[in-house]
Amino acid sequence: MMANQPIFILPQSTERYSGRDALRMNITAAKILENIVRTTLGPKGMDKMLVDSMGDVTVTNDGATILREMDIAQPAARMLVEIAKKQEDIVGDGTTSVVVIAGELLQKAQNLLEDGIATSVVVRGFRNASAKALEILNNISVDARDKDTLKKVAMTAMTGKGSDFAKEHLADLVVDAALRIEEDGKVDKDSINIQRISGDSVEDSFLAEGIIMDKTPVSKNMSRDIKDAKVALIKYPIQLKEITTDAKIDITSPDQFEAFLNNEEEMIKDLVDKVVESGANVLFCQKGIDDMAEHYLNKAGIVAYKRVKKSDMERLNKATGAKIVTDIEDLTPEVLGSAGHIYVEKIFDHELTFIEECGNPKATSIVLRGSTRYVTEQISRALDDALGVVAATIEDGKVLIGGGATEIELVKQLRDYGDSVMGREQLAILAYAEALEIIPRTLIENAGLDTINLIADLKAAHEESPAMGINVFTGKIVDMKEEGVLEPLKVKIQALQASTEAAEMILRIDDMIAAKNGLNSTGPDESGNDNSGMPPMPPAPGMGGMPPMM
Ligand code: ADP
Ligand code: MG
Repeated sequence: MMANQPIFILPQSTERYSGRDALRMNITAAKILENIVRTTLGPKGMDKMLVDSMGDVTVTNDGATILREMDIAQPAARMLVEIAKKQEDIVGDGTTSVVVIAGELLQKAQNLLEDGIATSVVVRGFRNASAKALEILNNISVDARDKDTLKKVAMTAMTGKGSDFAKEHLADLVVDAALRIEEDGKVDKDSINIQRISGDSVEDSFLAEGIIMDKTPVSKNMSRDIKDAKVALIKYPIQLKEITTDAKIDITSPDQFEAFLNNEEEMIKDLVDKVVESGANVLFCQKGIDDMAEHYLNKAGIVAYKRVKKSDMERLNKATGAKIVTDIEDLTPEVLGSAGHIYVEKIFDHELTFIEECGNPKATSIVLRGSTRYVTEQISRALDDALGVVAATIEDGKVLIGGGATEIELVKQLRDYGDSVMGREQLAILAYAEALEIIPRTLIENAGLDTINLIADLKAAHEESPAMGINVFTGKIVDMKEEGVLEPLKVKIQALQASTEAAEMILRIDDMIAAKNGLNSTGPDESGNDNSGMPPMPPAPGMGGMPPMM
């Protein structure tokens, strides 16, 4: 009787895709993402114009920025974005490459699956190929962390990012900054603060010792040039606790009113006294300072800054050695820091505070100048990439040759390796090798050059030398090492690992089960606006908010 009755274990509104359907959908989504960012790869990559929900416009060809700004709904594509972001966090460059390689790996995987090869065989082949690729990368990398190499690495990362006209100068700033803060072979990028100022030209950008803050003292009457500063950092408001709107104060006589005001004044005076007693003469406060407090601080000869950014507080902490205290009671002479010179200077039409001769001499800032906000924003992203690659090179001292040279060499050596492997896994290894060709192919395509012929020429050139790559400006195949196009080993290793990991994760999904409306939401952490920056994704509509799949 019951035999023909369907049994539902999931609510009827649940959407479900199984097996090949799920896979096809996810691969399609990954390919769409790949095609979006692909056109930005390399020095001749095009820009994207991104408009956020507030109407703010960003023009960029930085993969990390594009992925960050796009509101991706499809879950597999979101996974890919997350993995690419990890690349950005760990090494600060190579984000576009991760997405492009992952998309290509998935395309090759799909072809194999359609030919009847099992997913597990494909995954195993990809894993072995990736392990071999890392070995090859290590073998062909070159040891170097001299200043000249660092500068080339910085310039390679900045090429095509809107800063080419001032690339040399900016690369010098980045390398000097990184070397200044380097400690035991480690470079903490966060201790370099990039201060953007619109007005004047990029060539006027400079490196400053210490910290630069886009702030001036709370009062015009306070000193703007302090020697031997004793610095206090507090995260405590120097103002009266805000009276909530429903608090009621009964004042029935003028005397009472006066007492009330005096009382307030006493409390503020007390707070200021605490600062005075600590011996500080410069106060950076992450919270507010009210007018009355300002008056008493000024009277006591203390220079104060209010509503200082958290990131600046942290840099001040590192540079001056002052502890950030959260309770004013903890403000004692022991928690103060020092700076030899704190002063305000006007750059273009911008007043900035310079904090120099700090207790910790490693603090460094780059003052980035440019004609408009768009220019400084774009260049600051290029600087960020450059800092990432310079830091990576200082840290592991190994570089690879760019311009497609490394990828073509990988293709060649992986093919040889594949030929030595028996069975169907060989096909997966060869497919992995072929997928890596996407990098030089895209560099050539984006430069508007002849892909088929140049790839063939490149491969032929690699019979002679592993350094041959494509000069996208001349369309010639040249020794890219001589051209100075160098990239850190760490970036390429991370990129390969990340894209292989992403492809594998997506290949392993054979079932997608989405709660009602899950297919159209942008997931639990988004604000719920549905105008995702992506075109519609046939046949896979978005499918956010399904943690069991992750
Ligand atoms: P990603 O986000 O992956 O870093 P990019 O747009 O920065 O993407 O492009 C990086 C690619 O551009 C690398 O493969 C690199 O070798 C190549 N590249 C950089 N400079 C040059 C150059 N001068 N000539 C040819 N290729 C270059
Ligand atoms: Mg890059």
